[in-house]
Amino acid sequence: MFASEPGFIFGLDHANLLFHEAGHPIVGLFSNRLETYGGTMGQLTFPAVLAVSFWRQRQAISFAASVIWFFENWLNIARYMADARALELPLVGGGDHDWNTIFTRWNVLSYDTEIAGMVRFIGWTGMILAALWVGWRWWRDRSRTDSIEQF
Ligand SMILES: [Zn+2]
Repeated sequence: MFASEPGFIFGLDHANLLFHEAGHPIVGLFSNRLETYGGTMGQLTFPAVLAVSFWRQRQAISFAASVIWFFENWLNIARYMADARALELPLVGGGDHDWNTIFTRWNVLSYDTEIAGMVRFIGWTGMILAALWVGWRWWRDRSRTDSIEQF
């Protein structure tokens, strides 16, 4: 992640892109206007559902990995947001630029890189907190014999 910032992480971001592209038509079934947001919703929904599922199964490491994946998506989203005015990223299918459309709609296009900076910050904070949580659990449980996978 450090090496590719602000780039594209091979494999992981391909999965994110797949969920992003799936999100548009799914949300588009319900609302034309919301279809633009569907991509971002799509790429966040899958790791969020996994995180909730692992939490309910009390799978700590898998839960933390899903949370890290969820927040890694924020870096990916920030990269796309920061491109709203520049329009330099190659887009799948060469279609509309989601964040150019959204920020124009919200009348905040001139703040694209600032908003992206905040989103990137939240992404890193979320990932670091999830990693610290795993470290804290390990530290707390280090003298116990039960599995670290258990809450
Ligand atoms: Zn999109």
